[in-house]
Amino acid sequence: MSRVLVIGCGGVANVAIRKCCQVDDVFTELCIASRTKSKCDALAEALKGKTKTVVTTAQVDADNVDELVSLINSYKPDLVMNIALPYQDLTIMDACLICGVNYMDTANYEPEDTDDPEWRKIYEKRCKEQGFSAYFDYSWQWAYREKFEQAGLTALLGCGFDPGVTQAYCAYAKKHEFDTIDTIDILDCNGGDHGYAFATNFNPEVNLREVSAPGSYIENGKWVEIPAMSIKREYDFDSVGQKDMYLLHHEELESLAVNIPEVKRIRFFMTFGQSYLTHMKCLENVGMLSTTPVNFEGHEIVPIKFLKALLPDPASLGPRTHGKTNIGCIFTGKKDGQDKTYYIYNVCDHQECYKEVESQAISYTTGVPAMCGALMLLTGKWTTKGVHTVEEFDPDPFIEALDKHGLPKSESHNPVLVD
Ligand code: NDP
Repeated sequence: MSRVLVIGCGGVANVAIRKCCQVDDVFTELCIASRTKSKCDALAEALKGKTKTVVTTAQVDADNVDELVSLINSYKPDLVMNIALPYQDLTIMDACLICGVNYMDTANYEPEDTDDPEWRKIYEKRCKEQGFSAYFDYSWQWAYREKFEQAGLTALLGCGFDPGVTQAYCAYAKKHEFDTIDTIDILDCNGGDHGYAFATNFNPEVNLREVSAPGSYIENGKWVEIPAMSIKREYDFDSVGQKDMYLLHHEELESLAVNIPEVKRIRFFMTFGQSYLTHMKCLENVGMLSTTPVNFEGHEIVPIKFLKALLPDPASLGPRTHGKTNIGCIFTGKKDGQDKTYYIYNVCDHQECYKEVESQAISYTTGVPAMCGALMLLTGKWTTKGVHTVEEFDPDPFIEALDKHGLPKSESHNPVLVD
């Protein structure tokens, strides 16, 4: 029996909410609140008669702490699931603290305005001290640790697939397979085809910023930064086949380096086709990925926001996308004094996802872990107070829940390694 407030009603939230409504003995009441209420109402309507969960809707601007506080105080949820954008992480955490409610999200904080001089000062200092230049990092949310601990509340950060399940896979490997882990390679492969010349699988602004940024990895406790897309490997993925993949910066590297400090190297690779990369490079070269406003015929527009308006809505890709995703982690390390390798991953089929929840696999592989993370908090499986990432919790009940709710694990004890 629980009351959950979900903020956001985009591609990922649609899946998470539909999955929550499949577990209606735990998610007994759910309020969907977002900027555009009509989207929440449409989803609530679509769920009518399909679940015992009592679904209500509300309008909220999640950039505004007062609005959030008044919504949370009137609905009185046990948990707030932030499935809006990374820009809203801090305002929603502030509101949860004021109202005394647990919090979770699927991506770490990133400012919407990266030209803000106050933020830039802190950002530039961090770039110098830490050695990576991504706009997002955990420091903003880790700064809330004491406040959440003192309030007796839990904030679960980054509970999608990557970040999220990938960290649970690391905790699982550490718990069951290794005494010490030497290297972790996280491999994110999307073998799906939507038939468009160019589209992004989740929020275009967040996605394109991530992919066009310099890559980086951790070696012997230090960040190594490289030009975007400059390290390429090929890998033969189970159920997908041979794909090109590129080393990217990714947020879970930062928390894994802190929480599994013995690891000598952590890298993240994502697959991209040549057409995607050519389109992205061209858009970048002409300035369409810029977040700095420009004046166009008397109107101020942000190029990447304008681009988002032109690109297909990721939520519309579901019916057109065929093929599979394969996301997981390859480990090297030692068990009982012997060298050992291990690969744990999930394969997910775009069309199967569409049949079940009317979404493609990228939103599905994020929305299901968000529901399972909420399940861990609501059923008392994960109770540690403070601000934590997924690898800090017991991976077993979470991975069991993923197995049961649509993202079963596969394993190999003799994987091909990435050089
Ligand atoms: P979408 O753009 O599809 O949806 C975002 C939703 O948030 C929309 O409903 C939007 O409302 C709402 N929203 C935006 N700003 C506000 C605001 N100020 N107040 C209230 N609501 C707001 O994004 P996705 O569903 O693709 O992504 C959701 C999150 O999941 C993102 O944080 C993304 O980074 C993360 N993600 C995580 C992954 C992982 O594996 N961990 C993978 C993929 C995504 P409106 O309809 O008005 O625009």
